Amino acid sequence: SIQALRQLDTQSHLHAYTNAQAHAEQGPLVVVRGHGVEVEDDQGRRYIEGMSGLWCASLGFSHPRLAEAGAQALRTLPYYHTFNHRSNPAVAQLAAKLLALAPVPMARVFFANSGSEANDSAVKMVWYHFNALGQPGKKKIIARQRGYHGVTVASASLTGLPGNHADFDLPLPRMLHVDCPHHWRNALPGESEEAFATRLADALDARIQAEGPDTVAAFIAEPVMGAGGVIVPPATYFEKIQAVLKKHDVLLIADEVICGFGRTGAMWGSQTFGLKPDILTCAKALSSGYVPISAVMVNERIHASLMANSGRLGTFGHGYTYSGHPVACAVALETLQVYEDDHILDRVQALSPRFLAALRHFGERAVVGEARGVGLIGALELAPDKSGKTAFPPAAKAGPRLAQLALEEGLVVRAMGDTIALCPPLIITEAELDELFARLGRAFDRFEAEVAT
Ligand code: PLP
Repeated sequence: SIQALRQLDTQSHLHAYTNAQAHAEQGPLVVVRGHGVEVEDDQGRRYIEGMSGLWCASLGFSHPRLAEAGAQALRTLPYYHTFNHRSNPAVAQLAAKLLALAPVPMARVFFANSGSEANDSAVKMVWYHFNALGQPGKKKIIARQRGYHGVTVASASLTGLPGNHADFDLPLPRMLHVDCPHHWRNALPGESEEAFATRLADALDARIQAEGPDTVAAFIAEPVMGAGGVIVPPATYFEKIQAVLKKHDVLLIADEVICGFGRTGAMWGSQTFGLKPDILTCAKALSSGYVPISAVMVNERIHASLMANSGRLGTFGHGYTYSGHPVACAVALETLQVYEDDHILDRVQALSPRFLAALRHFGERAVVGEARGVGLIGALELAPDKSGKTAFPPAAKAGPRLAQLALEEGLVVRAMGDTIALCPPLIITEAELDELFARLGRAFDRFEAEVAT
């Protein structure tokens, strides 16, 4: 029965990122099926999934072509590994396909299972690279406050969000953080976006000089910060940052785990924002979230080091049991084919103005400080005014409250603190998008009425 299932979950399942006490009171939201942009819970209630789950189900739920590709792969070769020269048809094709799609020339693709693992792998590649070059002191990796790169020990160290470090004795040594490019919150009074970007690039330059350029190996960035609050960088930010990186021979890792595969209106966030990464990590929409898979693309420079067999094993000693898993690769291949066949990039570009206009409209509400977005990813940052200097009292839990009201209206959004994120499936229709915002509007009406009392 539904009740027994919920009890099983509460008594047995250690949930990710879930407050245990609130969970015990509230119980789980048990999702039993999904179709198109909707998911359905165990009570038969249906919700528009305004977040594509965790920013990943780009083709919505239960896409028949992906189901068939997975089933076919399970019947043919359900598992094989890729250590010691082993391969399978799907992994070879997927690697070639990703290289063809890459935003800059890339030489090889390595596969893992999650965004965290992809970023962890990228860190090891960077360290291996500078060891191979005889520069073992060049190891520091610079990330940004509010960046999110995952939860494994190295990736959590790169993550710059509260809650990911102190309890775990992180970050690891050699993992540093610089300022987040959130103009609305962090600009000085009267500072233009351009001047703000210059200040951040100058600060990065000063930090690298202070650390010693021969100790700094790489800089990691999401083109648009996702979990940090959908922070869309100022137009000139990455151009200026990359000039600094180039000056000090610091590699760029683009974390495309959210932005990759059309989310920002181009295939890669790197294309939308002009990044030219040495290493690119991706996951999530690579398989529309249907199976765990992530990838790390490396350029020829990194690839040459990895192939130099300079490691103590005489090889790059890194890989996962499920690297290049044939079922995951088959589903990913089919996902990329559907993006192409259904002209998903064109759809995002066509829908984006409607999406951004609706966000801007919400931005006029008294309880919204800033509305921002690009492509089909956006956020509404709740605040009592539009100054960028005020916030609702933390105890009010404004963001979670709004997300709860949205859920009651049949819409899943994500509250990151007081920022409400939207990242709908890329297959959403205009009518579904309008319905999404209608439901969000009702949630905001109720929220505003509560704030007023
Ligand atoms: N990088 C980014 C930008 C992410 O948004 C995430 C997850 O949300 C990760 C890395 C970590 O991915 P995973 O949860 O698959 O380990």
